Order: sequence, then C-alpha cells, then structure tokens
Amino acid sequence: MNKAEPQLSQIPLTQLRGVGPALQKKLQQLSINNVQDLLFHLPLRYEDRTRINTIASARVGETVQLQGEVINSSIQFGRRRSLHCTLVDDSGFISLRFFHFSAAQKNSLAPGTKIRCYGEVRRGRNGMEIYHPEYRVSTDLEDEPLSDSLTAIYPLTEGLQQARLRNIIQQALTYLGGSTPENDSDKKLSLPDYLPESLSTSLGLYELNDAIRLIHKPPIDAPLDWLSAGVNPGQSRLAFEELLAHRLCMRRFKNDSETQIAPQFEKKNSLSASFLASLPFKLTGAQQRVSNEIIDDLSRVCPMLRLLQGDVGSGKTVVAALAALQAVSAGYQVALMAPTELLAEQHLANFTQWFEPLGIQVGWLSGKIKGKARAQILASLQEGECQLLIGTHALFQDEVIYHKLGLIIIDEQHRFGVHQRLSLREKAGTHKLNPHQLVMTATPIPRTLAMSAYADLDNSIIDELPPGRTPVNTAIISSERRDQVVERIAQACAQNSQVYWVCTLIEESEVLQCQAAEVTEEQLRKLLPNIRIGLIHGRMKPKEKVGVMQSFKNGELQLLVATTVIEVGVDVPNASLMVIENPERLGLAQLHQLRGRVGRGSKQSHCILLYQSPLSKAGQQRLSVMRESNDGFYIAEKDLELRGPGQVLGTQQTGLMSFKVADITRDANLLDQVRDASELILSQHPDIIDPLIWRWLGDNTDYVNV
Ligand code: ADP
Ligand code: MG
Repeated sequence: MNKAEPQLSQIPLTQLRGVGPALQKKLQQLSINNVQDLLFHLPLRYEDRTRINTIASARVGETVQLQGEVINSSIQFGRRRSLHCTLVDDSGFISLRFFHFSAAQKNSLAPGTKIRCYGEVRRGRNGMEIYHPEYRVSTDLEDEPLSDSLTAIYPLTEGLQQARLRNIIQQALTYLGGSTPENDSDKKLSLPDYLPESLSTSLGLYELNDAIRLIHKPPIDAPLDWLSAGVNPGQSRLAFEELLAHRLCMRRFKNDSETQIAPQFEKKNSLSASFLASLPFKLTGAQQRVSNEIIDDLSRVCPMLRLLQGDVGSGKTVVAALAALQAVSAGYQVALMAPTELLAEQHLANFTQWFEPLGIQVGWLSGKIKGKARAQILASLQEGECQLLIGTHALFQDEVIYHKLGLIIIDEQHRFGVHQRLSLREKAGTHKLNPHQLVMTATPIPRTLAMSAYADLDNSIIDELPPGRTPVNTAIISSERRDQVVERIAQACAQNSQVYWVCTLIEESEVLQCQAAEVTEEQLRKLLPNIRIGLIHGRMKPKEKVGVMQSFKNGELQLLVATTVIEVGVDVPNASLMVIENPERLGLAQLHQLRGRVGRGSKQSHCILLYQSPLSKAGQQRLSVMRESNDGFYIAEKDLELRGPGQVLGTQQTGLMSFKVADITRDANLLDQVRDASELILSQHPDIIDPLIWRWLGDNTDYVNV
C-alpha cells in the first residue's frame, strides 16, 4: 500500500459517532488508538441473543436473555451498596443487581419500566440474580428486533460497557474494505495483507480484511463455540499471522543474541559452595542437572537466554539462587523480577535469609518505594553496593541504573509475554556487555508445543519434586453439595488446618470477580461464624494484600477467600485444604498452579473442585485429569488433547504466552506451518518481517531495532 493513501490507522477514534475525549481515553487503556486498532480488538467469544428465555426456565450458571417489567427498584445497603431491581415476566421473577450505578441509571430503571436484559444467572442472597446485566429500556418490547446472528463479546476495561464498545466496533467495520464486491468500493480502506500470495494460496488462508470482518460479524448460522473451537477460518488466518510474527521476532532476537557479548562468570566459586552447605537439604538430581546447564551457559561469552521450567514446588528458586551467586562472585549485579509485589516479597524474604549470611547486599524496589528510600536504593545500585535487586517491573524503569548488571532472572508465572521479557535486556544494558537471562516459568509447557513455540529459547526442565511430598488428593464435587463442603472446612479448621477458598473469574471484568469474592466471603461468614475469615483480591492495595497474607501465614486467619491472585507463589505450609469454585472456568494449567498452594507441608492435603452443575461431558473429562494426576507436564499434555469446544475463556487467560488472537493450545496444528513459513520469509521476503512484527507486537518490540 502506498504510504500517501489514507490508512485505517490514521482515522482517529473521535471520528466515530459517540466517541468523545472520555471514551477515547478508556479505549486507550486497551491500547486502542485508532480505527485500525479497534478492528484488531477481537472478541473473546460469542453470545446467543437470537431468542428470549423465560425467567422460569433460567438456571443458575446459564447466560440468558430475558424481557419483562421492573416492578421494584431500590438501593440496598450491605457490605457494598447496590441497586436492586426485580424483573417479572409471565413466568416468574428474578433480581438484577448493580454495584456501580448512577442516579440517572436508577431513575431509568424505575418501577413500570420495560427492559430486555442479558446476563449470567447466579445464586443470589434471595433466589436467582443477575449482576450487571446488559440491558436496554424499551416502551415496546414486542417490537424490539432480536439479533439475527451471534453477538460478539469483547475484552473490556473498567467503565466501558460491552454494548458501547460493540457499537463503535461495528462502526469501524463500515470503513473496512475486502475482497468481496460489496466491500471493494473506493470509500473503503483495506489493511495491507503482507503475506506472499503464494503462501496464502498454498495454505488456503483467508484474505486479511475478510478474516477480520468474519470474526466481528459471524454468519447467521455460526455455532456458539466458533471461536473457542478454533474452526473459524478468519480466526485461523489471524492466529497464523500472529504466530508467524512472534516466531519471526524470536528468530531475529536469537540471531542477534548470538552476535552479542556477555560477561563470563567462573564456574567454581566459594559463595555457591557455602550456600549449598547452608541448605537443610541436598539438591535433587534434576536441580543438579539443570544447575549445571546454567552454570555452563554463564561461563560462556554469548548471553544466556534460558527458560527454566519446573512444576510448582520443584525448587526453581534454589537453582536461581545458584545462578545469582555465580554472577555475584564474579563481581556482577543480579536483578530478580517477579510479576507481582506479593511474589517479589516472598523472594525477598528467601534471598535475604540465604544471602545476607554470605555478606551479599540484597535490595528491594517496587513502584511503591518512593522518596528517600527510593533515592537510597537507586544510589546503592548505581554505585554497585547492592548486589542483588529484587522487585517488580519497576526494576527496569529508565531511572534505574545498574553499576554492572550481569544476570536478569525473571520469575514469570506466565504473566509476561515472551517479547516483553526479551525487550528487558535492552533496557538493562548499561555497559558494553549484555546480561544473561534466566526465565523461570511454573506453567509446564507441553513438550510438543515447547518444541515449536519456544524453539529459540534454550530449555531446562526440573522434572522431579523434592523428596517427601505427598500428592494432593483431589475431589470433584457438585455445587449442589456446597453445604457438605462448608462442613469439611469447619472440620479442617477444628484440626488446626488452614483453608483456601478460591473464586474464579466470572466475567471479563476484574471488578465483578472481586465482588463475587466479597459475596462469597459474606456467605461463608454467616455459615461459619466461629472461623476467622479473611479476603484477598486483586483490587486491594498491595499493602492490604500483604497484610492479609501475613495474617494467614501466621495463623491469625483460618480461612482465606481469594480470587485467583493467590495463584502466584504463596507459601503457607499449614494450608491443607483448598476449595476452587467453578473450576470448569479455568484452564487445567491454572488449576494446577492454584492447587500447588496446598500440599506444601507434611499433612495430607486436599483440593475440592466445586463445579457448577450440570457439567458438560468435556468439562467432566477435563476435571478428572486433575483428580488423576499431580504432574504438571502430564496435565499440560492432557489439556492440549482435551481442550476443545466448550472452552469459556478467551486467549488471554490461557497462560502460555500473551497473544491477541492465537492460542498455542488451540492453534497447535498451525505451528508446523508457522515454522516453515518463517524460514521462507526470512530467506525470501525479509521486507515483510518488520511490518508483520510491528502489526502484532507493536510497542513491545523495543529490541526489534537492536
Ligand atoms: P518453585 O519451583 O515452585 O518455585 P520453590 O523454589 O519455591 O518451588 O521450592 C519449594 C519448596 O521446596 C521450598 O520450600 C524449598 O525450600 C524446598 N526445596 C527446594 N529444593 C529442595 C530439595 N532439593 N529438597 C527439599 N526441599 C527443597
Ligand atoms: Mg516459585
């Protein structure tokens, strides 16, 4: 495409109807800055709004479209103020609850108002409820048209409603050209399709513009699981291109790194020996082997780029510590980055305990450290006094200047995209040498995928757990037997055990997830009045979170109600029971991560997967994998095999890497083609590498121009 021609990326959002500065700002939070970005903001899934359900037929856990009259509307004061409306149709009544609402909204839902609404039915305080349904007020419901195709559901940000976003994406689509006659007019703009035609033809790929349109506007007869099942040809087209862009990016990075020079650290050093002698245990065979691989890398002249995989509890931290000691012995600094403050603090506690006796200065930096404390740590880092710096992504802000950084360790727990990680190296380079990188991940990657997807990282696997662990006993129980589960909690607490209750993601919105946890906590308090209960979720301040975790750790709290935030690195050996609510919503890898929080002490531990019945056949099969095995790699392989129709979550949550469209598990069948195509492009079409990478990785590619 000629650069002088108008492009979709040059059309400002404000050109769309209803987009003013406020909405523009919200969209920017989703990295949407122009019409082209909107087109690449793809739905997570679809919903069926082609028919109306009756209230009487609605079941807990189902997503329904209802219509009727509001007969009561009032503000209720509980733990959290909410607007509560009662909706009736000819068959019955149901509650609608809004935690965020304006006065205008309350007025618009006055008794007598007729509405059509859509949402997930849940068990409420008194009967069935829908939280924050999408709704539309109408004076004449009978004449309101129904959708004639599936409705796309998009990832949101706080304060942006689904209907609003859908509306502007539909507007954006009117600008988009394509290969079909009705879309091939002069007024339409097309996205450049970079793929060589011969390649698209031989792989039978959809044209790019048509592919995008198809995903946003599925045809009338498309099945509900069209996205999750991976049979949408538009989606495959985009997933292919995205995987290709990532692959090209990795290849380029790997090629670059082979020409770079890293500091070389002696293999033998006295710090490592003292450290090993101070540990109350011996390294497992697997830890030993993996350590040797790393020690070897660190003694070489080109920068290490190694992925360290190991199941939860396999002892990756000790291996990382040995790598750090090798760098410190050689007079270099080490940065250890964790994805959350909670996990970083845990590392700080461990490393301080291990390293201070060896005379090593351990420092701490997070976004929360301000003023004098910050100035102090920054100075000691720049002067080289601080030898190991632990923290969150704050470690790589521009103002953080290292004296002599030799090794970067990233404990990623699958929160960082590969490419963000890779770009860190550039930010970190303060001298002519490039630091080594060790990336730890607790999400086991199925071997079949690791071969393709991570082909350009060196890979070390700890495939053995330290001795003396008892596998967690897992039970799958229907939510209809919730009372018995609550009874189990009472018994466990009576025996001085501690318990986690995990509430899983219920919507695209984190706000709602946290609210669900609050409601659950409230219910459990009523049912278990003698038990000391705490609550932790992602919207609490870091300090509050750390406080709650501390109380749980030292036994003041017996039961901790949590959202999936506890997935990350929490270590409370006395916790021996975990209840995971609606486990069918999560990927197996994530469930395995969560479950790894129990079974850390000597007691026999239990995990209860409290599913919402009825559970689909596929759901049953998936959960039974959790019952059969405690082996993360086995679980990951099974997940790959079984994941198919019925997967509720979109690509963001699946954990392996962060993609917009692709999902390595679902799209595993594309990986071989992607590998071959990337070789073809590297050798024959190098000019499209940059535009492809830019399109899919955009700002995350500081290193592209190395
Ligand atoms: P993860 O791989 O999940 O990060 P950690 O490094 O946190 O695991 O280790 C989990 C626990 O196992 C820690 O309490 C650690 O001290 C302990 N541990 C690590 N290696 C061994 C070993 N070889 N023998 C016994 N315990 C070990
Ligand atoms: Mg860990």
